[in-house]
Amino acid sequence: MSQYRAPLAEMQFVMTELAGLDDVAQLPGFEDATPDTVGAILEEADKFATEVLDPLNRIGDREGARLSDDGRVTTPAGFRAAYRKFCELGWNGLSKSADFGGQGMPQLVAAAIDEMWNASNMAFELCPMLTGGAIEAIELNGSETLKRTYLPKMVSGEWTGTMNLTEPQAGSDLAAVRAKAVRQADGSYRISGKKIFITYGDHDYTDNIIHLVLARTPDAPPGTRGISLFVVPKFLVNADGSLGARNDVRCVSLEHKLGIHASPTAVLAFGDRDGAVGHVVGDENRGLEYMFVMMNLARFGVGMQGVGIAERAYQRARDYAKERVQGRAVGAARDAAAGGIIGHPDVRRMLMTMRANTEAARALGYVTAAALDRAHRHPDADVRKRELAFAELMIPIVKGWNTELAQQTAYLGVQVHGGMGFIEESGAAQYVRDARITTIYEGTTGIQANDLIGRKIARDGGKAMMSVVEAMRSVDRKLADAGSDELAAIGLRLRAGVDALEDAAHWIVARWSEDPRAVLAGAGPFLDLAGTVCGGAQLGRAALVAAGKLTEGNGDASFLRTKIATARHFADHCLTRASGLRDAVMADAASVLALADEQF
Ligand SMILES: Cc1cc2nc3c(=O)[nH]c(=O)nc-3n(C[C@H](O)[C@H](O)[C@H](O)COP(=O)(O)OP(=O)(O)OC[C@H]3O[C@@H](n4cnc5c(N)ncnc54)[C@H](O)[C@@H]3O)c2cc1C
Repeated sequence: MSQYRAPLAEMQFVMTELAGLDDVAQLPGFEDATPDTVGAILEEADKFATEVLDPLNRIGDREGARLSDDGRVTTPAGFRAAYRKFCELGWNGLSKSADFGGQGMPQLVAAAIDEMWNASNMAFELCPMLTGGAIEAIELNGSETLKRTYLPKMVSGEWTGTMNLTEPQAGSDLAAVRAKAVRQADGSYRISGKKIFITYGDHDYTDNIIHLVLARTPDAPPGTRGISLFVVPKFLVNADGSLGARNDVRCVSLEHKLGIHASPTAVLAFGDRDGAVGHVVGDENRGLEYMFVMMNLARFGVGMQGVGIAERAYQRARDYAKERVQGRAVGAARDAAAGGIIGHPDVRRMLMTMRANTEAARALGYVTAAALDRAHRHPDADVRKRELAFAELMIPIVKGWNTELAQQTAYLGVQVHGGMGFIEESGAAQYVRDARITTIYEGTTGIQANDLIGRKIARDGGKAMMSVVEAMRSVDRKLADAGSDELAAIGLRLRAGVDALEDAAHWIVARWSEDPRAVLAGAGPFLDLAGTVCGGAQLGRAALVAAGKLTEGNGDASFLRTKIATARHFADHCLTRASGLRDAVMADAASVLALADEQF
């Protein structure tokens, strides 16, 4: 039986030593994020994740959300009560603005807490995550009336939020959105159309659901410049804040999915009768622009789902490997008793890879979260600009690479379990199924890779990427000069990885305008290369800090040694892939584009 426990020592190490929690806590508005307060928050969240959410995860998977004949959506046993408790304890508003009742904690703290919700029960976490996206959309661009009417109740969790982008013909390409919005004399709009795959599009947690919907006005220009964003509540809200009539939006069906069964994924019909009443957010025709600002945080959130699920898959596999007895360890005496499978080198390799992947993904996530905090709050405009450029470069990597890594990690988790991994009762298989969506929603890995290349590298001629390359070169130099064979070995691998990334990035910048098809043919391997090298550099930094502390005799020596060993494993087993990935990126698409459509 494996019970989730948040890796608190590791989380605090990454927050403090790599992401700079102390600096973040100095930013205006974050003064409450002292190490003591953050430590207490992490411990409380660990309790909620361990005692409430983790035990519900299997129940949610087995029961799933259901739609009854009378059109009501119910979530699995225990989820509604857990949601109520979650909100009562103030978790929903942790990083939300104090102006609307939130606690205003930094994104860095929220990232660590979200990791715990994702590790223990990702299907549950999706509801607060989507509500967070809807809150941000209203807060950044909504009128004062919209903010006053909706935000306090969404921040407290009394009402939840959804994001309605996808339609049958509009998935990755939102220019194809067709939902309609017709302006009324009173300034409101009537919305009609069908939205599919809407996470928590209907449920039984709360009395109201606030849908954020992309739609077009009749005179809107075609394509992405003609899409507007609307707030469409399930129940209309009276002037005094009480609930009014049912709006013209209903859940037509729920999808039957591979994973995240407890999360209702709804097909929503807007405007089957007179049109659903909606209110425009900001200006007409700027909906996609608003959505993109908000998408940064949503994509980051999915990247943290990758970290959470990878951590949980690792913990379950580690616990099983310690219990399962099978075969004698290599080199043991012939008459020695069979031992735990953790004694077999191949099982240890899998566990080390799972652990190293997870730690690299976590470090990238937390460092990016801290950059977002500095980008929003730092008093110096130049620092804000620099941090924003870094965070924007990292977000497709955190989303794309962390979630791809989560697949590998969950896959290895099943493998460590042997046959039991294939049996649902072991719990390992659920992580494979649940993790699978993370590389798809909020933009597939292909879309993240295109974004990384087109918008984040080619557009600025590789400037932001080269400053990351420079920072990583200073890490490899420090590793080489640290006077330790172990650190020097990590530094050597990192240097080769950074060389590969730099070569590939220069190649992309040079080829982009002349042959974008050839460049995009290598987008997937490039995303993998960037994540592998940036993740490896973070683990290299961690190893340097750990070695320094060991020399000073400062901290838990056993924990610090694991940091060095994990960085070494990542360097030897993962960073070594970098040169192969570079070659794939720079192969000029010879194989990718070789066949004609009809030859497939
Ligand atoms: C469980 C679940 C929950 C979801 N929740 C929500 C939600 O709450 N709100 C919401 O609005 N949507 C939601 N979605 C929709 C999700 O965001 C889309 O499924 C996703 O964006 C992909 O779109 P698509 O399914 O139409 O795939 P497609 O766009 O048809 O993509 C199919 C394949 O083509 C590739 N592809 C497409 N375009 C390109 C390109 N330009 N370059 C390279 N490759 C490309 C993709 O990478 C993919 O491999 C959810 C989906 C699921 C399954």
